Amino acid sequence: MSEHTTETKVLKTVEALKRNRFHAEYYKTAQQALDQVLSMIASDATVGIAGSWTLMQLNIVELLEARGNTVFCHHKPGLSPEEVLDIRRKQLTCDVFLTSSNAIIEDGRLVNMDATGNRVAAMMFGPKKCIVIAGENKIVENYDAAMQRIRKTAAPLNNKRLNRPNPCVNSGECMDCQGPTRLCNITTILHKKPPVSDIHVFVVGESLGY
Ligand code: SF4
Repeated sequence: MSEHTTETKVLKTVEALKRNRFHAEYYKTAQQALDQVLSMIASDATVGIAGSWTLMQLNIVELLEARGNTVFCHHKPGLSPEEVLDIRRKQLTCDVFLTSSNAIIEDGRLVNMDATGNRVAAMMFGPKKCIVIAGENKIVENYDAAMQRIRKTAAPLNNKRLNRPNPCVNSGECMDCQGPTRLCNITTILHKKPPVSDIHVFVVGESLGY
């Protein structure tokens, strides 16, 4: 796909997100999106961080902590299971929750698959503000393509990153495993922005995360 065609698709998706009442914007580069995100977060705000490769690529935890923000990030090394659970709960009532999305459909819907549910719960209700940062690689044509993207790309790579003993790590695609280590327990679709949730979706004209 040419650069122009990709940008047209991204801009159409941003317009569709706006029609669905999300506060959506297009940023050509990840740095531009990151600058905007940081400008929207007060230095005394509490910030929840989803388990997201996109956010890790942006070094957002380090940037926020350097500014003095209290950051609720449950995937730091050395945390006990009790501490992880406590941080996940705090993410639900933080000032700003940062996340990506597993897929964004061209009609402006967000599709996500979660293991524990803290990420999708915080996306839909709880934090005073939620900011979704997603690369143009997350845009898909329809719901079936969103599920394909999750089953063949996002979930297997997340299983690999998290060192889960699930069959998709070796097969590279979903095998619908049934054991307790399964990551794919909850699917959510945000069709429209829920009325009292302040959700911003920043689509970046670069590939970010997976
Ligand atoms: S259901 Fe199991 S096999 Fe399929 S992607 Fe999720 S964790 Fe992997």
